[in-house]
Amino acid sequence: MELADKTALVTGASRGIGRAIAQKFAAAGARVAIHYHQDQAAAEETSRTLPGQGHILVQADVANPDDVQRMVNTAIEQLGGLDILVNNAGIFIDHALADVDYETWRAAWQRTVQTNLIGAANTCYCVARHMIERGGGKIINVGSRGAYRGEPVGPAYGASKGGLHAMSQSLAKYLGTYHIFVTAVAPGFVATDMSRESLSGSRGDEIRNQSPLGRVATPEEIAHAVLFLAAPGSEWLTGGVVDLNGASYLR
Ligand code: NAP
Repeated sequence: MELADKTALVTGASRGIGRAIAQKFAAAGARVAIHYHQDQAAAEETSRTLPGQGHILVQADVANPDDVQRMVNTAIEQLGGLDILVNNAGIFIDHALADVDYETWRAAWQRTVQTNLIGAANTCYCVARHMIERGGGKIINVGSRGAYRGEPVGPAYGASKGGLHAMSQSLAKYLGTYHIFVTAVAPGFVATDMSRESLSGSRGDEIRNQSPLGRVATPEEIAHAVLFLAAPGSEWLTGGVVDLNGASYLR
């Protein structure tokens, strides 16, 4: 088992991609801190589906720096240390420029960047300080194809994910000497709550046909790649941003 005796904190593991990552990690032998924000019942459901023993739940609003510190400290204490961090929690808010007033525009930017980018940066800080003392670790950040392709109705989202990719690269350079390996994944559309409305609406077929496979990703396909990045042997990928988009957008 690739992650036997490893411990991992997965943010946003109550549902969607985060839940699939927690499931893959647990099936590979890891003990997992299942993070959630508001939906404790969903996080408990994730926990029930995980094979193995010793998984825990941790709650935090990642946009709140004090919550982040408490979440990380709890995971370290209860799991006896952290080998792997996956920054997966994220939000998408529609704020098409011509449709929103200035206040709504500013609020969307503030919330999106504070959650998707600064939340992940603060989690990296708290976990990497611990990993430096521990002698190493792996950090995987869940970015987005939107960083490259553009997000017309969610520019703050595209910017936050572009920032997340750039942060991963900077931290990979800085933390490499500490044996901490940092990567990102950049998924295109994935069938989860976040994309449900777009996929079931009038644009659904157009979105599916962006890929020559005629469909979007499953959460398990994203988790498969994240497991590969977390497992021993993938260290040389540090600094990489892995495209996971079914050839829907090539760069
Ligand atoms: P999702 O189904 O909407 O789930 C979002 C997760 O993030 C939930 O666990 C939620 O917790 C958590 N979360 C939201 N706001 C939070 C906050 N302020 N603090 C802490 N946790 C918070 O999303 P998903 O589709 O699985 O997306 C996971 C990641 O993949 C995100 O970073 C997203 O940007 C990225 N991504 C998704 C797609 C896609 O098409 N779905 C494509 C590319 C990238 P609660 O349930 O407890 O509220």
